[in-house]
Amino acid sequence: MPVRDDLRALEGYHSPQVQVRVRLNTNESPFPPPVAWRDAFAEELSRVEWHRYPDRAASELRAGIAAMHGVRPEQVFVANGSNEVLQTVLLTFAGPGRTVATFEPTYQLHGHIARLTGATVAEGERAADFTLDMGEVRRVIRDASPTVTFLCSPNNPTGLEEPEANVRGVLSLAPGLLVVDEAYGQFASWSAMGLVDDELPMVVSRTFSKTWSMAGSRLGYLVGPEWLVAELDKVVLPYHLDAAKQIAGRLALTFVAEMDERVQLIVAERERLAAAMGSMPIDVVPSGANFILFRPRGRSGRAVWQGLLDRSVLIRDCSGWPRLADCLRVTVGTPQENDEFLTALSEVMQ
Ligand SMILES: *Cc1c(COP(=O)(O)O)cnc(C)c1O
Repeated sequence: MPVRDDLRALEGYHSPQVQVRVRLNTNESPFPPPVAWRDAFAEELSRVEWHRYPDRAASELRAGIAAMHGVRPEQVFVANGSNEVLQTVLLTFAGPGRTVATFEPTYQLHGHIARLTGATVAEGERAADFTLDMGEVRRVIRDASPTVTFLCSPNNPTGLEEPEANVRGVLSLAPGLLVVDEAYGQFASWSAMGLVDDELPMVVSRTFSKTWSMAGSRLGYLVGPEWLVAELDKVVLPYHLDAAKQIAGRLALTFVAEMDERVQLIVAERERLAAAMGSMPIDVVPSGANFILFRPRGRSGRAVWQGLLDRSVLIRDCSGWPRLADCLRVTVGTPQENDEFLTALSEVMQ
């Protein structure tokens, strides 16, 4: 049975897993959610009316997220992970005959999901230091007239924050919708969330997977103009957010202080890691996220990755990805995991 012609050339999304002692490859939180959250969740789960459909609008969850960001519930769209948020945006604004702009290297799924909707992807190039060149932004936007333009801040896999001037610059140049993916926004020094306005064609997406220690629950959202959220609500499948997920998210919002503590600890550990790695023969990309991209000097990235794996430390091997020759990405773990990583890394770099 032939699949769609345009899908045949596509590859799926891969994130290889192996059994290791220290797993620092997928940018999850190294800490489980608070025990009190687990208890409250279990308690509410026992009272779910499973024979009924869940609240289709996820009203309480939306209201909670809106309150946290100081926006109206009508400006919040919630979905199964921010990947489903992005998919819904692209189903609504991309599709056949339309173009989506990305600035590479960036999160692979932006281009991948865009292609799945049948859209063409215009790949702009970042500078050698992975920063965004506004001349290149102008060129891509002039040549491609994208209906959707992606930024990712902090950018995955580089870790770089997009300066506010760049976000404002792209917003003023882009003819269509600007999506700012802030999957790592809480670890950064600023957020584009404050720019969101009903009159501006811009959305900011977030996820519970990284900061909130809830990758297992698949929950993400965006904040954007009210009219746009209403369009997304038409496109997404009815009842896509199950009852358990709505409870999980709503309860998580009552543990903001605990999450902030985790973020502070991870940011402090990130700075400790970056400093230690900087004292080795390694080029470290400045990170505003919970991971660090680096390039060993005088050693192949692949060999360093294998050396770490031989010591049961798994990080992400980006060395074979386009534009990322010899680059590796390590997720910030617990202080003990980070120590083990640094010990293994200094052995491998000897
Ligand atoms: C992890 C990640 C996501 C996906 O998050 P989910 O909410 O788990 O789907 C989105 N964008 C970026 C840049 C990510 O790194």
